[in-house]
Amino acid sequence: MKFKSYTSKTFKKTTYYSNLPVEERKVFDVLTRVFHFKINNYVIDTLINWQKVPNDPIYKLVFPRKEMLHINDYLKLIEIQESGSETELLIFINHVKNKMFPKINYNENCVPIHNGSLLKGAYRSFKTTLALYPNPMVKTCHSYCSYCFRWVTFNDYEMQNASSYDFPLAPVSYLKEHKEITDVVFTGADPLIIKADTLKKYIDPILDIESVKVINITSKSLAWWPYRFITDVDSYELLNLFEYIISKGKHLNILAHFTHSQELEGEIIKEATQRIKRTGAIIRCQGPLVRDINDSTGAWVNLWTKQIELGLIPFYMLMEADHNKESCFKIPLDKALHIFEEAQKQTSSMSRTARGPVFVNDVHKILIDGTIDINDQKYFVLKSLQAPPYTDGEGSIKLLQYDKDTKGPENLFELFEEKQIDTISL
Ligand code: SF4
Repeated sequence: MKFKSYTSKTFKKTTYYSNLPVEERKVFDVLTRVFHFKINNYVIDTLINWQKVPNDPIYKLVFPRKEMLHINDYLKLIEIQESGSETELLIFINHVKNKMFPKINYNENCVPIHNGSLLKGAYRSFKTTLALYPNPMVKTCHSYCSYCFRWVTFNDYEMQNASSYDFPLAPVSYLKEHKEITDVVFTGADPLIIKADTLKKYIDPILDIESVKVINITSKSLAWWPYRFITDVDSYELLNLFEYIISKGKHLNILAHFTHSQELEGEIIKEATQRIKRTGAIIRCQGPLVRDINDSTGAWVNLWTKQIELGLIPFYMLMEADHNKESCFKIPLDKALHIFEEAQKQTSSMSRTARGPVFVNDVHKILIDGTIDINDQKYFVLKSLQAPPYTDGEGSIKLLQYDKDTKGPENLFELFEEKQIDTISL
């Protein structure tokens, strides 16, 4: 199948748009002026069940919803749009965008310093892991998720250039010097959007570093465009690259992003996962718990069951981070914990490879491990799974006063702000 991408403008020319309920078209017209929108022919024709729109989970996953804005802003946008004043509308859209666009936090302490300069395009949030952002990788994905924060960078060329590197050998000497780094993560946006030969240029120099054992590629291509591994012109080259990485003695982990079991239905995804697995790569799955899309025990039972059926490994149930000002995607910790625990009980023991619910911010990975009663007080038990290399927080356990409605994560990360270790050099 040939990839076809739709913007908000081109989507409006399709019958899918004209068949949408009037209210949905109104929401789409206004919100795609504020938020980015991108969808492709596979998601439109195969993944979304249009009979169920607006309640279809994949529809909700891609199409912006009005809860993403404060109700007053939404109503004002509609009012101005209906009044017909484009100038006034543009001014208000900019005002809303400035309010809504999440600031992408990054911790300067995590940008390694090498030979006296910052190692641009590298980010070391954990002791054993280095994330790398080669220049083409941070640009886009096959489709955009409504809950994602990264899309704020998609049109921001200044930010893209500032946070990525061009020269494939750039991180090599740093990695050779820091033998404690065992995992290199190629992430994005979606790294698999770029051509296999470009990807190889950046990955190849890392493969000769003995101390690097794992190459991680995070991607939502399997969900959004499984044809990436089947019919794209360089799909064989991509699969050959996977084989090549493994032939160099590395563990290749495809960290696949799935949110709903509907993304795992059908023959195409089955074929794509089989092709990847035949290369020797391991596919581990992670995805966020998102309000109104997959915030039920049944949704996670189905998701993990489908993953296990396809021979994929459930890995993380993530908590939706605080990227939307209206927090319309977040759910309380208590509910998240309940969903995780109940879904684990109702799924094959193979799902025990999943950890969750887990909060990830720019430097911490924190597991909500349960609740405990001490002296008639109830607490959430939190565990730091991974912490920045310049702190001693990794593995520590903290208690957070229980509150049924707490959504976090701000207070969670504060809890794990451990004392800095001065002696470690990044
Ligand atoms: S595929 Fe990943 S990076 Fe791209 S929009 Fe979705 S969540 Fe964001």
